[in-house]
Amino acid sequence: MTEDSDLTQMTLGEDYADIRDGVRKVCANFPLEYWHDKDEIAEYPHEFVNAMTESGYLGALIPEEYGGAGLPIRAGSVILEEIHASGCSAAACHAQMYIMGTLLRHGSEEQKRKYLPGIANGDIRLQAFGVTEPTSGTDTTQLKTRAVRQGDHYVVNGQKVWTSRALQSDLMLLLCRTTPVEEVAKRTDGLSTMIVDLREGLGNGLEITPIPTMINHNTNQLFFDDLKVPVENLIGEEGRGFRYILDGMNAERVLVASEAIGDGRWFTEKATAYANERVVFGKPIGANQGIQFPIANAYAQIKAAELMVRQAAALFDDGKPCGAEANMAKMLASEATWAAAEACMQTYGGFAFAKEYHIERKWREARIFKTAPISTNLILGFVGQHVLGMPRSY
Ligand SMILES: Cc1cc2nc3c(=O)[nH]c(=O)nc-3n(C[C@H](O)[C@H](O)[C@H](O)COP(=O)(O)OP(=O)(O)OC[C@H]3O[C@@H](n4cnc5c(N)ncnc54)[C@H](O)[C@@H]3O)c2cc1C
Repeated sequence: MTEDSDLTQMTLGEDYADIRDGVRKVCANFPLEYWHDKDEIAEYPHEFVNAMTESGYLGALIPEEYGGAGLPIRAGSVILEEIHASGCSAAACHAQMYIMGTLLRHGSEEQKRKYLPGIANGDIRLQAFGVTEPTSGTDTTQLKTRAVRQGDHYVVNGQKVWTSRALQSDLMLLLCRTTPVEEVAKRTDGLSTMIVDLREGLGNGLEITPIPTMINHNTNQLFFDDLKVPVENLIGEEGRGFRYILDGMNAERVLVASEAIGDGRWFTEKATAYANERVVFGKPIGANQGIQFPIANAYAQIKAAELMVRQAAALFDDGKPCGAEANMAKMLASEATWAAAEACMQTYGGFAFAKEYHIERKWREARIFKTAPISTNLILGFVGQHVLGMPRSY
């Protein structure tokens, strides 16, 4: 199923047609009402996650020798895009695709053999990524959670916020400080990544408190109080964790951008259909430029953002630097899908607010892309400094 992902051969149109078709078939079993019901009671979509795991899509990026399909990130993009274009949501399970990449690229052979096959077949869920903290926010290198080595384990103390899926995951990838910031040459030094067994930790130095949010995202606050993590759970070298998560973050940006593209497709299809069908003042509302143009404009934005997503994925798959492209892809896709969400809300008029039409829920869900996993301003700051060479603004 592999396809050449060389940048010069960046594919256009419906690449991975068989995967797209297969994903759509699985998604057809999870209609909009399923997501509405989950949203009403803020319940994790276990059935959907299980179906995606059983059909092999969540293990798509895991190499074949560890039980996955060994596909490039572009295939992961296609899977997530189709999930969202089908009206479903991958938020409950997408993290597995990029978190396991850190383990794959920087973990020991022993760690890979221990975890990856179980992640691929669904026995183990590695869905939680503990980076953000309440006091440091986007300024990641200032995070305060400390891990101090004591013999054959680390003792972890601190707090994380917005750690999504921690209650539905077996394992979490934790970013924490192992050397105090005042003792390192660069503030990106002295941070480490380690695998935390959430099942063992809960009640033994780890407390997890859900945060009620405007979308069904199963996100939490985590409190570490002398949590013991075995030294063998450290990924790579102590103090180099920030570098390890950076390439994972590029993967995350590409994959999340693909979800936004999928949502954008869903909104424009819904809006177009309703604009053609709803007759007011004796003609379809879509005959009015005030309705038609915002939909057409969002469609054009989605098509343009999709090209940047494809370019970022192609660079990533070629092992080339893709920080700028991955960030811009995420920013452009989030803005395009928001334009589509707004156009759809407006096109549906009052009915957009009725839950049975699913527009208000999808609109709420689409807003997250402008904030997480990184907000638009921070991407603009990155482009301004690292791509255009202006002074650091963050
Ligand atoms: C539903 C949800 C799920 C999440 N899941 C996870 C998860 O699983 N794991 C995880 O680690 N994190 C997660 N996050 C956290 C998310 O990545 C952060 O919320 C996001 O990166 C923004 O950080 P913050 O909320 O601390 O905002 P802050 O850093 O406090 O920033 C607030 C605002 O100020 C702006 N700002 C800050 N500094 C500057 C500057 N120098 N120039 C211009 N503007 C600036 C930002 O752009 C933002 O708009 C999640 C968040 C949400 C809402």
